Amino acid sequence: MIRVPFLDGQAVAVMGLGKSGAATVRALAASGARVLAWDDNAAARSAAGVDAVDLRGVDFSAVALLVWSPGIPHTHPQPHPVAEAARAAGVPLVCDVDLLAQAKAASRFLAVTGTNGKSTTTTLLAHVLAAAGRETAAGGNLGTAALAMPDLGADGRYVVELSSYQLELVPHLAVDAAVLLNIAPDHLGRHGGLDGYVAAKRTLFARLKPGAVAVVGVDDPASAAIAESLAGEGRTVVRISAERRLAAGVSAPDGVLLDDGTPVCDLKAIARLPGRHNWQNACAAYAMARADGIEPQRIAAALAGYPGLAHRQELVAKIDGVAWINDSKATNADAVEKALVCYDRIYWILGGQAKEGGIAALAPHFPRIVHAYLIGEAEDAFAETLDGKVPYTRCVTLEAAVAAAGAQSEGDGGAVVVLSPACASWDQFDSFEHRGDVFRALVQARRP
Ligand code: ADP
Repeated sequence: MIRVPFLDGQAVAVMGLGKSGAATVRALAASGARVLAWDDNAAARSAAGVDAVDLRGVDFSAVALLVWSPGIPHTHPQPHPVAEAARAAGVPLVCDVDLLAQAKAASRFLAVTGTNGKSTTTTLLAHVLAAAGRETAAGGNLGTAALAMPDLGADGRYVVELSSYQLELVPHLAVDAAVLLNIAPDHLGRHGGLDGYVAAKRTLFARLKPGAVAVVGVDDPASAAIAESLAGEGRTVVRISAERRLAAGVSAPDGVLLDDGTPVCDLKAIARLPGRHNWQNACAAYAMARADGIEPQRIAAALAGYPGLAHRQELVAKIDGVAWINDSKATNADAVEKALVCYDRIYWILGGQAKEGGIAALAPHFPRIVHAYLIGEAEDAFAETLDGKVPYTRCVTLEAAVAAAGAQSEGDGGAVVVLSPACASWDQFDSFEHRGDVFRALVQARRP
């Protein structure tokens, strides 16, 4: 746990009592702060097990700081009354990562943002740093909450994953290297449109220490424009691309990682980093590790040993030559496409709570699908899209889908059974992690 001794004896408000909010309350209490904790959601209040104080009625003139859970909108689509009251009283609004940055100001910080691939890149980079003998912790938007991270020594490295929401709330964060992977239209409502979203992502680079390296993916126009403008400001910019060879920068157009055009390692040989999207993540982790002074061949060896992240094209088992893949994190068609392009013969389990647009955009990949197994609320809609193009079975539950896919794929060596749902999980599961865990257990039970 991280302690924040500079808040000893002060009144600190905490808004939002999810995982990171609860960790913040614990860290503040352990540091001697007087904590005023609140969540608009009664279930979250009782789950956190704290004495809640309704922040809508608090006099903010006596409050030193408001720690805001980034998941709660505070400006768009409309201002939150608690944030408004704090702002009116001149109380700073920060997120937990900002407290980590203040508490561990002497440590090195490596920051990762982007629309997609943040968690993979964060864990991949932390893995490379640890393999090179650096004392390292990873967290933030993914996994471990900022203040639940370990208290590293003075030479420690914190690899922090930052969402665009968190980036608005980290005024004290000063980073030694930062990567922006990509920008795709996402979360536009909360940032007041694409311009607001791009602006939020760009603020990461305002957090660079003098002379620190900015790593920027240049495979989408918004990120490429940011790379140009940073270079124009005299920043040290390392460009990365998974689509074209870069004479200067890190690229992997054919799956071979190139450093300024010189081959370093073959990413296609790394089973835990399948697909071009992961080549982008690997280029990013490589460039960040180079910025931290690690030698190319050391990084290459560490990349090859990356254990992968659960629920993202996670290889659960290979049973009689058929690979079973848990891609439960793929909750929209875009993410599913990343998985489908990696395999040629696919038994596809999908469904849940459908997202806007459904799976129509995946039609170019339908020829790779041997059979589809539909579950959850989206069954009707998906059946309509697949009708006449892909044979499918309505399975209702994940359990039935695994059984049906297992029976049908038997003996089809080289094929894959993939749970890549293109849907939210909430109709049948608590979370995408829960759905993936159930899938993993069902698959493991099939092992001979
Ligand atoms: P995030 O933390 O940004 O949500 P993850 O690393 O958890 O990203 O990956 C989530 C999903 O996003 C993956 O399963 C994959 O479908 C897709 N993805 C991963 N990396 C990238 C990337 N660099 N570009 C586009 N999509 C990606």
